[in-house]
Amino acid sequence: MKYDFLIVGSGLAGSTLAERIANKLDKKILLIEKREHIGGNCYDYLNEYNIYIHKYGPHIFHTMNKKVWDYASKFTEWINFELKVLAVIKDKKVPVPFNFNSIDMIFPPKYAKKLQELLILHYRNVKKIPILKLRETNNPELKKLADFIYDNIFYGYTTKQWGLSPLELDSSVTSRVPIVLSRDDRYFHDPYQGIPKFGYTQMIENMLKHKNIEITTNTDFKDIIENVKFNKMIYTGKVDEFFDYLHGELPYRSLRFEFKDLKTETFQERAIINYPNDFNYTRITEFKHFTEAKTEFTTIAYEYPESYIKGYNEPYYPIPRQTNHEQFSKYQIEINKLNNTVYFIGRLADYKYYNMDQTIGAALLLFEKKISKE
Ligand code: FAD
Ligand code: UDP
Repeated sequence: MKYDFLIVGSGLAGSTLAERIANKLDKKILLIEKREHIGGNCYDYLNEYNIYIHKYGPHIFHTMNKKVWDYASKFTEWINFELKVLAVIKDKKVPVPFNFNSIDMIFPPKYAKKLQELLILHYRNVKKIPILKLRETNNPELKKLADFIYDNIFYGYTTKQWGLSPLELDSSVTSRVPIVLSRDDRYFHDPYQGIPKFGYTQMIENMLKHKNIEITTNTDFKDIIENVKFNKMIYTGKVDEFFDYLHGELPYRSLRFEFKDLKTETFQERAIINYPNDFNYTRITEFKHFTEAKTEFTTIAYEYPESYIKGYNEPYYPIPRQTNHEQFSKYQIEINKLNNTVYFIGRLADYKYYNMDQTIGAALLLFEKKISKE
């Protein structure tokens, strides 16, 4: 049997393309996944306490892209969920992104009011500002505030998370969590936000329900590639691995999750609490908050960042910084040489810090601009 497409990886990138190719082009697909389950890092499961556990870290869907939202909504109903994170600093739990409420909790009332007025005066009509931008201010009071936020919210968390200081990374990394010049406590400000009502795994299963899509788990594509016949390949794994590390290993960052089941109704007041300054973990997630699961038990996960070591742990994050982009561009040249016989897409293959909506968006674009035109 000859497949039209061999797709490597069943995360959102591979699954979106499998869905589009099967439904829109009526072509035959073999989807290969090396893990024992589909879904990539979005994989979740219902545990014995009826709580959906996000095995590879907390996932909240958020987007400003209506097209992506409408697309994902074809495969799931949503629970309305808007994430509100607290960060522990100076023995207080303050809202992050740092905002006017956080200022009120940290500084004496008169000084807090003065800082808020200065922010409004200096950043008229600005809703949010990246910390590295705020640090460029010429106003001495605002500079003090910026340094306080940098030291207490960003520096410790970032060095734990990446093993690098904020200045050694692309500024886009810390600007994902800007300073918010209002009392909006939400972590994301996108118009569309939610959690799939019956989990991400079910959403992705729904995407893949098609007679033209054959799925094989527990299979690394390198082990079967010689024995499968196909016209084109879509590859969503690590780009350096595909080319046998021709231009060296691209750096990725990994995580270790320590899960705990506790016989208590709730462990913490929010789904996610960040620990920028103390401990070796960056955050604790309590999963039942995502779905408001009603049980006497709860499940939490401590998130410990660690170096990525090939064959030992998972490559969770590309590391966005200039030297790594330069190394990736050498792989981009190899990709171009393949002349669209293999399409590379997704967080690992594009070496881009995509959120879920950006992953779906990139896959939809690849389908529309290239794959559907062939
Ligand atoms: P992946 O999900 O990594 O899928 C790639 C798949 O390919 C994997 O299943 C892998 O096993 C398989 N594969 C790789 N190599 C091979 C091979 N050789 N053979 C066979 N199979 C192979 N996004 C949000 O929008 N909101 C969030 O709250 C959010 N939280 C996150 C939290 C964490 C801790 C992490 C790590 C990511 C988070 N994301 C979040 C991002 C989200 O996980 C990604 O955007 C999305 O999963 C990327 O999908 P993908 O298909 O590109 O990659
Ligand atoms: N960040 C931080 N302190 C925080 C939250 C985030 O310094 O309390 C920085 C850190 O560098 C982190 C980045 O902002 O890696 C992006 O945070 P986000 O929550 O988007 O990370 P993700 O959920 O992708 O791990």
